[in-house]
Parts: sequence; C-alpha cells; structure tokens
Amino acid sequence: MFALQGDVREHAHVLEALGAQTRPVRRATDLAGLDGIVLPGGESSVMDRLARIVGLKEPLAAALRAGLPAYGTCAGLIMLARRIQNPAPDQGTLEVLDVTVRRNAFGAQAASFEADLHVPAVSADPVHAVFIRAPAVLALGEAGGDGADVEVLASVPASGLSVDPAGLGLDAGARLPVAVRQGHVLATSFHPEVTGDWSFHRAFLAGL
Ligand code: GLN
Repeated sequence: MFALQGDVREHAHVLEALGAQTRPVRRATDLAGLDGIVLPGGESSVMDRLARIVGLKEPLAAALRAGLPAYGTCAGLIMLARRIQNPAPDQGTLEVLDVTVRRNAFGAQAASFEADLHVPAVSADPVHAVFIRAPAVLALGEAGGDGADVEVLASVPASGLSVDPAGLGLDAGARLPVAVRQGHVLATSFHPEVTGDWSFHRAFLAGL
C-alpha cells in the first residue's frame, strides 16, 4: 500500500479480507519484495509532494517501469497517469499509465455519485462504483496517438461531468473511460474500496 496519504486502511482491509498480506509503503526501502502496490484515493497533489519529499517518488516510478503491478483508485489513478490536464501547481505524477486525466471532473464533493457499471473483464455482475471528486480519463495515448495498449474496462456517459463536455472537446454523447488497464497497471476513477464490491481487488490479486 502506498501509504503517505489517502484511504489506505480501507484498501488494506479489502486486500487482507481477500487473503493478501499488506504493508504500508512510506519510504523507498519499503518497496523491497513487493508483489504489487495499491495507490489509494485521497488527494493526488499531496501524494505527489510527499512522495518527492521522502524520496519515494523516483524509486517507485522505477519499480513500476520495471513491472511492479499497480492498482490506483481515484487519486491513485491520477498518480499513475502520464499527463494531468489541470494539475495543481508543481504537481507531477509517476508517469506509467499512458492516459491524460482531468482532476475533479465529475463535480464537487457534494456532487459525488454512484453507478452500476458493466465490467465484463472483472465480473459477470454489475460493479457498484462510487465517484468522489473523481478524475476523468480524457484521452488514451499521446496527443494524436491512439493509446492502443490502454484497455478500457468500463466507461460512463460524458454528460455526468461537472464541466461542459464540449469545452473538453468531447461530444455530449461521448463515453469516458473510468476503469483502464495498461499491462501491469490497473486504475479506476472510482473507489471500490468503500462500496463492499471487491471485484476489482479480486481481479488485481488474480493478476488482471
Ligand atoms: N480530487 C482528488 C485528487 O485530485 C481525487 C479525489 C479522490 O481520490 N477521491 O487527487
């Protein structure tokens, strides 16, 4: 568990209940011997700043580039993404998931919403998802590229955004990815760790 900030305990609870052993990662030395890492929901700009301050950011990025499996939820998705359309001042990321994200795209805290998603890659049943100031994945791959190796596992209508889809260059009827996978990196805009629906954690532990 990336444990500098965010809802670490909720994720650890789910992972342990599913039979995995977890431990907090707060320093570069904590990375040794991990089979995978979960980056929780929280506040990505704070996670990024703290990771730089404690010297965890570059060693973690290197471990991810070398193939360490990762699952990021919400702020964790932002941390994994290569590009942020609206970063906080000085905010960077780990740059391992080839997508462009927009922070807080689905509205203010009060506009948080829930949805049942069709995600055949992880579950035959609908997956219950909670979006809390959630990021949107606006583009796969570099500008002009198609992000062909980024797989979209689930999407929602762009009409749920707090901003006018047209202002983002999207059709009103467009769908936005909310669960994506690129090789060993899995990420969701939403928070399965707070819903009791553990399909994504189960799939991550099974090596999705
Ligand atoms: N808005 C947060 C960010 O930019 C993400 C919110 C969340 O993780 N629930 O990091």
